[in-house]
Amino acid sequence: MKSLREVDPKVYGIIKKEEKRQENNLELIASENFTSSAVLEAQGSCLTNKYAEGYSGRRWYDGCEFMDDIETLAIKRAKKIFGGEHVNVQPHSGSQANMAVYFAALDVGDRILALDLACGGHLTHGHRHNFSGRLYDVACYGLDNKTEMIDYDEVLKLARSHKPKMILAGASAYSRKIDFKKFRKIADEVGAYLFVDMAHVAGLVVAGLYPSPVPYAEFVTSTTHKTLRGPRSGFIICKNKFAKRIDMQVFPGIQGGPLMHVVAAKAVAFKEACSAAFKKYQHQVVKNAKTLADNLEKKGLRIVSGGTDTHLFLVDLQNRNISGADAAICLDRADITVNKNLIPFDSTSATITSGIRLGTAAITTRGMKEKEMEKIAEFIDCVLSSYGDDKICNRIKREVLKLTNKFPLHNK
Ligand SMILES: *Cc1c(COP(=O)(O)O)cnc(C)c1O
Repeated sequence: MKSLREVDPKVYGIIKKEEKRQENNLELIASENFTSSAVLEAQGSCLTNKYAEGYSGRRWYDGCEFMDDIETLAIKRAKKIFGGEHVNVQPHSGSQANMAVYFAALDVGDRILALDLACGGHLTHGHRHNFSGRLYDVACYGLDNKTEMIDYDEVLKLARSHKPKMILAGASAYSRKIDFKKFRKIADEVGAYLFVDMAHVAGLVVAGLYPSPVPYAEFVTSTTHKTLRGPRSGFIICKNKFAKRIDMQVFPGIQGGPLMHVVAAKAVAFKEACSAAFKKYQHQVVKNAKTLADNLEKKGLRIVSGGTDTHLFLVDLQNRNISGADAAICLDRADITVNKNLIPFDSTSATITSGIRLGTAAITTRGMKEKEMEKIAEFIDCVLSSYGDDKICNRIKREVLKLTNKFPLHNK
């Protein structure tokens, strides 16, 4: 067969450039990671050719015996690492996993109570431009303005006054542990479902570094590509009672044929997550995040919520007189990739922001440890304090290249 390079040199060339960017940059975007070559291999396999609408043993098309094997294996492995009564591994993404849960549990117009987007919530937790905000009546809880952490008494108060049908816990930009037991109690008190979206922290949950929501929530969703280090995708864990409804809502409710090559890659990622090496990796991820946050704090930067229990944290840039948007652009010029992020009680807009979000999942996959975190904190501080100085930016870019060269991505 002809190689991609021969068939389509343009696409090949762009992929090669991206490969080089990933190799050379310091990837600090908290939702990204680098999969193993085994995951890539499964995802790039011939399974992409097969339609497998339906579920194991109940497919619409024939010739699905191996699809059944792969999906059954993925489900078995997900149950092994997370527990849980029923698992659906077909959602194409975290957002679609969430959509299936809403459709299974709610009617259009029902009320949900979720973490405010400006305080770390996700688009699919009720943003007005997202289907969740358009279809449901959204009430929000925020964070305590002193601690910048979830105030459970406040959540209970809001739950009592809003009487939501569903309470959501889970976030995209919250660095602290969430007490799912407390959320369960609040949900029970007002007769609401509890839905936990553990997209960011799933890898930490596997390693026992973050509380598991599975015993407490009717519905748990996750992505597989963040700390879990699998392919870009999603899955759902639910109580048996909702198994049929969840499966019906994923297919035929919102999706057609599952991406079986991605389901296979999920199975591989779940297997990898069982290993001792994976646990060790997650420990290092958290240690690295703490070290990076501590070192940035020493440089006078303020860490939102006073630190981190996870792989990520937010940096408040207000005392540096630079917006999150500008900070992200100038760090990118030095090949340090981050994203701008609203901080709690931000006075700017989502396109400007007063903060940046940093995560250590990807750089830890490369093998970086505490010593490298100290260096990276220096790089960041240096770029931010010499904002607009191209000379300094270029010097840091060279330093970044030296560092990333020492931690090659191949065969991780
Ligand atoms: C990343 C994320 C998602 C969505 O994942 P996609 O795969 O990008 O759709 C959902 N919820 C939370 C909390 C997330 O952080």
